[in-house]
Amino acid sequence: MRKYYADLHVHIGRAGERPVKVTASSQLTLSNLILWGARRKGLDVVGIVDAASPLVIQELETMLESGALLPAADGGLASGSGLLLLLGAEVETVEGAHFLSYLPDLTAVKEFRVFLESRVSNLNLSTPKARVAAKELLRATVELGGIFCPAHAFTPHKGAYGCWIERLAVGLGDDVGKVEALELGLSADSKMAHMISETDAFCFLSNSDAHSLASLGREYNCLLMENPSFAEVRRAVRGEKGRQVLANYGMHPMLGKYHRSFCPLCSAIATGEAPVTVCDRCGNRKMVLGVWDRICQIRDRVENPKSSETVPYHYRVPLAMLPGVGPRTVEKLVEHFENEIHVIENADLDEIKQVAGAETATVIGRMRRGKLSFVPGGGGKYGKVQKD
Ligand SMILES: [Zn+2]
Ligand SMILES: [Zn+2]
Repeated sequence: MRKYYADLHVHIGRAGERPVKVTASSQLTLSNLILWGARRKGLDVVGIVDAASPLVIQELETMLESGALLPAADGGLASGSGLLLLLGAEVETVEGAHFLSYLPDLTAVKEFRVFLESRVSNLNLSTPKARVAAKELLRATVELGGIFCPAHAFTPHKGAYGCWIERLAVGLGDDVGKVEALELGLSADSKMAHMISETDAFCFLSNSDAHSLASLGREYNCLLMENPSFAEVRRAVRGEKGRQVLANYGMHPMLGKYHRSFCPLCSAIATGEAPVTVCDRCGNRKMVLGVWDRICQIRDRVENPKSSETVPYHYRVPLAMLPGVGPRTVEKLVEHFENEIHVIENADLDEIKQVAGAETATVIGRMRRGKLSFVPGGGGKYGKVQKD
């Protein structure tokens, strides 16, 4: 078995010259994704969450016909460069929350599309609003042999815990046992998620939710698997036969856009002890709850008593977000070491120093040791890495 780096939440901006996700970059096409994901970023597995869009299905079929993609033996599609595309769909349910359904192959994706067709107004577009309850979507996913995963679970914007319900076990009833994975989202880490004890049953995923090539792989997971395929990813998620998620890599929650409560009236970002629900500047009682505030509001414990046995979460940012590392330095490093994840995780620091200078080597070393400090984000803006 070996390690595979996987980012399982990536949108498609355009397919067949037509927009799939209007707010996403038009450069975010399947072929650019394969080039960037595998070669430049260093990802081995990419989850496409717009695969049920007929535009994307059509392009995937064209790529299969031309041989640019091949069906992987145990599910998913493989590119010539060795990247595995995991096929999935992000759907907004009647509860107003987003869920990810990962499906074994294109046949299952097409059946899933048929399921959605009568419940969605425009299936071409990304993350369609479906006239379907979360529980029903979960059942349809499982019936097709898929993996069901609440997306960016804690965000006030369309996260299941953030905007819908305090316990998935309440919202989904007995079916909660079929939820296998939980996406942490950019503003949360596993330590925060562990404050809700029912999440012990889920495998945590840290994904980019990329809307552009630049944000591809800003969060990722390291999976231990026999080969890159849907079946192996599922075994890793379930922790079967030695397959497992070895680690999550993601942005520090403080960097996220929704870490603390935000006042839409006076733009204040809460700084007081969480949960802050009333604006301390103008008294507004309708704050947009931050992820940290929401978790403190609904948690049933302050930490996981077995936290030392859980999957580690490492704080990472893309090289371009590191202070003092400009686009030319990133280019040089990626050129020399082949891909960005290799630079971030494994490349020899002395060699990095030779290629990009002492300052860059120092800051990458600090990131690996979890020693970066941050200027918090909030109110829809990302935070920043502090100079030192
Ligand atoms: Zn979403
Ligand atoms: Zn206010």
